[in-house]
Amino acid sequence: MTRIVYVNGAYRPETEAKVSVFDRGFLFADAVYEVTAVIGGKLIDFPGHCARLRRSLGELGLPSPATDEEILAIHRELVSRNALDLGHVYLMVTRGEADRDFAFPKAETPPSFVLFTQARTAIETPEVGRGLRVASVPDLRWGRRDIKTVQLLYPSMAKMEAKRQGKDDAWFVENGEVTEGTSNNAYIVTQDGTIRTRALGHDILHGITRAAIMRVAGELELRIEEKPFTIAEAQGAREAFITSAGAFVTPVVEIDGAAVGDGRPGPIARRLRAAYLEAAIAQAI
Ligand code: PMP
Repeated sequence: MTRIVYVNGAYRPETEAKVSVFDRGFLFADAVYEVTAVIGGKLIDFPGHCARLRRSLGELGLPSPATDEEILAIHRELVSRNALDLGHVYLMVTRGEADRDFAFPKAETPPSFVLFTQARTAIETPEVGRGLRVASVPDLRWGRRDIKTVQLLYPSMAKMEAKRQGKDDAWFVENGEVTEGTSNNAYIVTQDGTIRTRALGHDILHGITRAAIMRVAGELELRIEEKPFTIAEAQGAREAFITSAGAFVTPVVEIDGAAVGDGRPGPIARRLRAAYLEAAIAQAI
């Protein structure tokens, strides 16, 4: 089955879905994106992703391509046209097409608006059962990581460095403290059982899954503190894990070659994953 992609108001077979070589998303990474998980053909945490998209657009003065209702309708139409049961919908808004110039084009320039689906075969991957091995890398990204831009070259390089080391993913370190993973938020469970993750600011993406995990942890009466941690603290923790719309909650079992806890996925990460998925599926739209 040919995948159907949404491009600027039209649903097209992927081979016919095109944007201009002058698109500012292509030339300047002048674009923001969102990724919304789909389980059972329904959208997970959609209102959160839509709210964050609005915030990213606002921070960069990017024009809005559609209303929230229209964006929801496009997501649903793509899920339906592609018979997507499990996977995600990728959404991207760029500042549109204009002759190459560092200055932004005229405000009337229409944004480019692209969405497509990606299928996956299972919620439970081997990585979830085994746990991730991560390598630390310096955080050399720009200073507004709270805006979900498509400037993903450095995170891609970090992922490749992790793979070169035979690991699954990388955690970024700045001023001796972990900021987040290449495409996920990072957590540890300290020896006294407290979940610790970095506070929100300009230095990390405000994960939609992170917000949900805070609620779920509260409901499970787990202690959670928003405080940074070092690689040494993570290596000495009882557990570690990551969250994202793609990974949900996935345990981390090794950091820079040192086992975390007994080197196996921990009970708190496993409980949070199950509770998150249960609540997210119940609220999916
Ligand atoms: N941090 C970064 C750098 C990311 O790319 C992502 C995934 N987009 C996350 C955190 C997790 O965010 P979310 O839970 O909204 O997927």
